This record gives sequence, structure tokens and C-alpha cells, in this order.
Amino acid sequence: MIVHSLARQRIALGEPIARGGEATVHEVVGARETLAKIYSTPREGYDRKLIWMVANPPDLHHGHPSIAWPQELLYNAQGHFAGYLMPRISGGAVKLLEVFNPRVRAKVMPKFNWRYLHRAARNLSAALAALHACDYVVGDLNESNILVMPTALVTLIDTDSFQVRAVTQNHVELYPCPVARLEYTPPELQGHAPSERRPEHDNFGLAVLIFQLLMDGSHPFRGRWLASGEPPSIEERIRNGWFPYANASGGRIAELPSMLPFSALDPQVATLFTRCFVAGHRDPSVRPAAGEWRDALDAAEKNLQECAQHHMYAKHLSACPWCGLRRETVRVAPAPGRTKTPREERRARRARPRMYPVPTFQRPPPFAAPFPAAQPFSVPTVPRNFTLPRVPRATINNALAVGSGSLRYGFTVVATLGNVLSAIARGMAAPNWRAWWRASVLVLSGATAGTLLWAALGAGSGALIGALAAVWDHVLVLNVLLAHAREGALYGASVAVILGLVFG
Ligand SMILES: [Zn+2]
Repeated sequence: MIVHSLARQRIALGEPIARGGEATVHEVVGARETLAKIYSTPREGYDRKLIWMVANPPDLHHGHPSIAWPQELLYNAQGHFAGYLMPRISGGAVKLLEVFNPRVRAKVMPKFNWRYLHRAARNLSAALAALHACDYVVGDLNESNILVMPTALVTLIDTDSFQVRAVTQNHVELYPCPVARLEYTPPELQGHAPSERRPEHDNFGLAVLIFQLLMDGSHPFRGRWLASGEPPSIEERIRNGWFPYANASGGRIAELPSMLPFSALDPQVATLFTRCFVAGHRDPSVRPAAGEWRDALDAAEKNLQECAQHHMYAKHLSACPWCGLRRETVRVAPAPGRTKTPREERRARRARPRMYPVPTFQRPPPFAAPFPAAQPFSVPTVPRNFTLPRVPRATINNALAVGSGSLRYGFTVVATLGNVLSAIARGMAAPNWRAWWRASVLVLSGATAGTLLWAALGAGSGALIGALAAVWDHVLVLNVLLAHAREGALYGASVAVILGLVFG
């Protein structure tokens, strides 16, 4: 499959490596670090949204792409918007979902202990904080559109569904996030989709994800239903604010006995959860922002200690909570006294949890340039060997003096009127101003060249020259295959013929 970049560079795509309902993801031939997302159904307005995103990227210059930001728009052979290029996330990345469940985690990320989970949560918060600082809102924050590396680095994917506010000179254009998962949707948005999402809506989803990371994938509103009747759904519990911890459910829901107790969380982190799910239920603006989570998780990670079974747990506890609960899967550390080989050391260094430097995003400029018009590929370039015939100055002077005064006047009026009509016709046919300009250059050069040729060879052979000019115009049109210029070029040719007949 061949697509084109906006600069009309040919890009060859490999076989699809992933297929969704609305798009496929392809490898890019000759670019291992890049993937192409190609839409199977046309996306209204996505090209303009992505053009804005490409022009206003967050600062991602810290080695690892924490957000799979769109790099370049792609167009098909007909010049229609087809998809976009994005960085490829390799190095054993898995979806966040696979890290939640301890059993799955033991298989896919054997070394991922509680410390790594804190780091992953911290890195996720850092990426989101940087996005929010840039006026972007994820909207559909969930466990499937976040990837985690074995080094606890994370990457937000599906960036084309982000909510984007494009601020141009005259107005603010909002590209909303079309979907959201109910388990990550705050109470005030349960049951209705808002026209515009705010960072505090993301902050609810972020808190749910952090809770799931630290609590073996358990949703913060999950628990044992104590009241009578059918246990309500997670969505209903979110709507009612029945957070089972901190007495927020009014005794309706209790902690699950098989879970790490809420009190085992770092006190500062636990406070943030309560603020998000209890105080934040009444007032969304008090929910901890992503930057606050990042700092709290940083501090919490520093306060972790290791028990004899190599479990990680918070320092405020007197005993390891995991030992009583179950063993957490960690690779057994090398026996004390044995020194590591350089190779083992290198490997250990490589596998240590990584942290991004806090990304400093550039805000989009308040008065940014308007969108560049998308450029289709049906417009070919003007041939290189395009030169006008050289005409002596005296001949031009003679040509301009030909005919009586009223004839020249009449001709000028007709020609001007024709030119205006032709320009309007081209304007209606051309898809953008560039195509219009190319067509105009061809028409004007066709007519001018015909006229000058006629003048150079003398009025006697005017009819012949007019016909030749018409052929020349047609050849030009055929050569260049400029569909939108055809009407205009025909007009240019006819002007030359009429000139030949009138003055011949
Ligand atoms: Zn332990």
C-alpha cells in the first residue's frame, strides 16, 4: 500500500500489524521506529484536528515517547486524508490491563513489583500533567490505551481521540473526544456525554487507574455489597459516590477481604484517593491534578521498604502486608556475598525502573497561524522545460499597435471580461488556491504565448498561428493532466484563435 505525506513524499506501508473496527496499524517500509494508522472509514474533521496536533506537539525530547503523538498526516492516491504516522513503541510494551492482574503480571512482567507499579503510576501522572498543561484532554482514559514497558515507562496511545482545543486568530475550534469508558467516567458525566471535557474529568479516570495499579487491578468502587437488594453496578456506585473506603458508602459497601487493605497505601496517596472520590464527588475541582499525583507517588516510592520475602511495602507499616496476604511475584535477589558479573550488573542497570524527567510542554501559541489547507495530490507540477519564446522588443511594439483604436478597445473589454469569467470558473473547479494559481499560470501563459507567436510571425498567418496556439494549449493540458485547468486552458486557446481570426 502506498500513501503520501503532506509534502507528497511516497510512503510504502507493510502488512497491517493490528486491525481495529475503525482503523488498521501498518509498519512503514524503511522506518522501523514508525507506524502508520490508516482509517478504514473516513473521519470527518480528523485531518484538521491532527494538523493542529502535529503543529503543536508536547515536548517529547526525553528519549522515550510517553505519548504516541501524531507525526505526519497521510493521504491516499486520490489525495484524500487517510491516516497518520506515529512513533512505534517497542521493547516489550504491554497494555496496562495486563499489569493490573497479579497472575497475568507474573507472566508478562515477572519483575514488576509494587515499586515498579508506583513508578508506572507516577510516569502516567507525569505524562497526563504535561498534556493538561498544553490544553489537551485525553477524555477516553482507560487501561487499554496505555502501554507499559518492563522498565515502568508508560506511553499513551490512540492520541487521535484526544480532545483538542485549536485556538486560532478568530475563534476556538473544539474537537471533542467521541467516546469514554463508564468505569473511568466521573459521576457528573455518568449518563450523559459533555460537549467539552475538562482536565478534572481526566483526573477522575487517572485516580481509578492509579488505584488499579496499586491494588492488583481492583476498581476503587468495587467491594462487598452489605445492603439489601442486588449489588449496584460500578457506574451506579460512581454516580452515588459510594467509595467503600473512608466511610463514604454509608456502610453499604465493605472492603474485599482478599485485597491489600486501603490503610497499607502510603498515607499521602490514600489521602489523594479520598479527596478524589469523596470530596471530588461533590466538587470536581478539588480532585487531585495529575501533577499532584506525580509528586505524591514519587514520595511514596521513596518511602517503600523491602521485607525478607522481597515484598515492597510502605514505611509507615510495622509489618509487611503482603506476607499475610500472599506472596508477590518477584525474582529472587542474588544470594548475599556473591558479586555480580559485569554482564549481570549491566542487565540490572538496564532493567531498573526508569523515570522521565518531568516533560515541559510548550503551550500552543495564543495567536497561532490558521490551518494550512490540506493539499491534494491530483495537482501535478508545472513541467520543468517550460520557457516562453523570445520575442524582439520591436515585434512586441508592432503587435501592440495592430488594429484600429476601437477594435483594440473592444478586444481589451472582451478579453478582460473573459479572463474574469475564466478565473471564477477556475475558482469554482479548483480544490484550493494552489491548484487555482497553477491553472491560472497555464491559461495566461497559453494565451500570451499564442498571441506573441502570432505577433512574431506576422498578421498574415494569424489563423494558422491561432490554430497552432490552440493545439499547443491542448498539448499542455494533456501533458500536465491538470483537470481543473482544462476549461480555463480551452478558454485561453479560443482567445488565441479569435485573435488570429480577427487580426489575420
Ligand atoms: Zn512480605
